[in-house]
Amino acid sequence: MPLTNRSVVVSHKEQSFSEKIYFPAIVKGMAVTFSHLFKKRPTIMYPEQKREYAAVYRGQHVLKRDENGAERCTACGMCAVACPAEAITMESAERKKGEENLYREEKYAKTYEINMLRCIFCGLCEEACPKEAIFLTDRIVASEYERDVFVYGKDKLVEKIGLPIDVSKRQTPEVLAFKKIPGLKHNQLHQEKISKGKH
Ligand code: SF4
Ligand code: SF4
Repeated sequence: MPLTNRSVVVSHKEQSFSEKIYFPAIVKGMAVTFSHLFKKRPTIMYPEQKREYAAVYRGQHVLKRDENGAERCTACGMCAVACPAEAITMESAERKKGEENLYREEKYAKTYEINMLRCIFCGLCEEACPKEAIFLTDRIVASEYERDVFVYGKDKLVEKIGLPIDVSKRQTPEVLAFKKIPGLKHNQLHQEKISKGKH
């Protein structure tokens, strides 16, 4: 008794003469191949030619500095909690006297790591961050031979002093307008929206 209805009865039909000599089948196959010569190529001549990325492309992360060059991240862990791939780990430390120019808040990330092999580039870490500290950029995560090289630390994530990375392309006009309001915190705006019933 058959277990499923997917069984097929094999045909033992005698092959015709044209099937036996294979020639018509070869001609048919060559015609398919030949027809592709006149179609538009889906490949590009990289690296001379490069594809255009969508403005909303999400690539390698950056940990931003503020306008004075201090690290914005306060090691609150919101990004790690929001990350569905559990790709983010960090260790916090207290800012010492005299380090105000290095770290924006009293607490900062002593270590901050993202495992790029786990990351699915969903952008939820960016959404969760209340300090506008982490953003996904249009940079591509480079290919490597060793797996452990894909665990990116602060040396690769924090932007270099004096070389800010533009993350404005993916920001909506609403977010950009918000950033111009001095002193207002991300979560404050969210609370205001809730109280006005806009969310
Ligand atoms: S982009 Fe998504 S998966 Fe990648 S670190 Fe951020 S939250 Fe995690
Ligand atoms: S990047 Fe943002 S959310 Fe993540 S620990 Fe730093 S301040 Fe918190």
